[in-house]
Amino acid sequence: MTTHKDLIDRDRKVTFHASTHLRDFAQGDAPGRVITGGKGINIVDKDGREFIDGFAGLYCVNIGYGRSEVAEAIYQQALEMSYYHTYVGHSNEPQIALSEKILELAGPGMSKVYYGMSGSDANETQLKIVRYYNNVLGRPQKKKVISRMRGYHGSGIASGSLTGLKAFHDHFDLPIETIRHTEAPYYYHRAAEQEGMSEREFSKHCATKLEEMILAEGPDTVAAFIGEPVLGTGGIVPPPEGYWDEIQAVLAKYDVLLIADEVVCGFGRTGSEFGSHHYGIKPDLITIAKGLTSAYQPLSGVIVGDRVWNVLEQGTGEYGPIGHGWTYSGHALGCAAGLANLQIIEREGLTANAANTGAYLQERLQATFGDHPVVGNVRGVGMMGALEFAADPAKRQHFDPSLKVGPRMSAAALEQNLIARAMPQGDILGFAPPLTTTRAEVDEIVARTRKAVDKVTDELTREGAL
Ligand code: PMP
Repeated sequence: MTTHKDLIDRDRKVTFHASTHLRDFAQGDAPGRVITGGKGINIVDKDGREFIDGFAGLYCVNIGYGRSEVAEAIYQQALEMSYYHTYVGHSNEPQIALSEKILELAGPGMSKVYYGMSGSDANETQLKIVRYYNNVLGRPQKKKVISRMRGYHGSGIASGSLTGLKAFHDHFDLPIETIRHTEAPYYYHRAAEQEGMSEREFSKHCATKLEEMILAEGPDTVAAFIGEPVLGTGGIVPPPEGYWDEIQAVLAKYDVLLIADEVVCGFGRTGSEFGSHHYGIKPDLITIAKGLTSAYQPLSGVIVGDRVWNVLEQGTGEYGPIGHGWTYSGHALGCAAGLANLQIIEREGLTANAANTGAYLQERLQATFGDHPVVGNVRGVGMMGALEFAADPAKRQHFDPSLKVGPRMSAAALEQNLIARAMPQGDILGFAPPLTTTRAEVDEIVARTRKAVDKVTDELTREGAL
């Protein structure tokens, strides 16, 4: 019988893993794990060890694992017609129905859906749309895109440039020219309170920074602004009060398009259908992926608003068919999975559960860790939350990065059979369980986290780091 170790040894020889120390993994010095199944919020590895997946994969398995209804929908569609391209007006039934559903959920002002396979490629599409739009309008110099430090928008050359995290730029010569990063809406991090700045004032400060950047670059060169309604990979940071209103006022003033990257927030995670609805954002373009299919199939999309669509249509008159397309755009199996997934979210009221049980998650995290000696900040919204660790919470003093407190917390959670993610920049432990999570499961997640955090706290005390 093939053992777990056999599989991992074979894997080390042949697979190149994301976000992994390549040499250590290949040489056997970094751990591997083969996942073989899952049910609800739990996953199982090849040894039969069961974990609570407190991060829903990469905050994507919104409906939880093991939904045979989605598997069945994919199977039935595969029997009928797995694939035909969607170039030059070709379509398939699930694509049509899914686009209708997405536009219904997105609300007024949204016109069309274009599909891809990943959040990264969807943001590549966004950048091309933004360029095309300004070319049609006769503004070829209006091409720069402003993103935010700590934003996450993908891992390609252009989408990775939009990402505002150092690890995704270093050694790849990124970001590319035409992409800029403005201040992150990270109230806690700026230690704003100590400077006596209220959340609202900090939001205004972020908007002023953005405006200064637009003016310094030249408003006739700035095409778009991209942001996640809630910063995700950059630390799970809900925006400070009034942030999006302030930002949108600046964008309107300089005729800058707004792209809402809803890859994480979309389809219920914040407790609203979209993060944009939650925060009163009126985007021109929306990026979707992850929760669109709950990762039962790879599928992403760009939702194009009326304002942009009307211009794109004019371009087609002048330029001919648009020179953009992926072989797998609108893949029938992805769209069938998306439809079945969205039906489950609707039927089971999972968005409402993300709001209600999500509020319970926030409350339990706050009650358990609000006064913990190594926790500086507890934050979140809906079914996403984070603990940010600090050597001295009162002074918001970070730990020495060499102590690797974040990864150690995550490793200690894993010992408790809980997956909670060490976010890539800073000592932050992230939670984003499936939207099906119950209160009892929240209690279990929080209890296991408590054991893990206490264990690492004891170690840090013994090491003299506290
Ligand atoms: N945008 C956001 C907000 C994301 O969180 C991610 C992935 N974590 C992406 C884009 C990129 O998606 P993918 O990894 O599917 O390319």
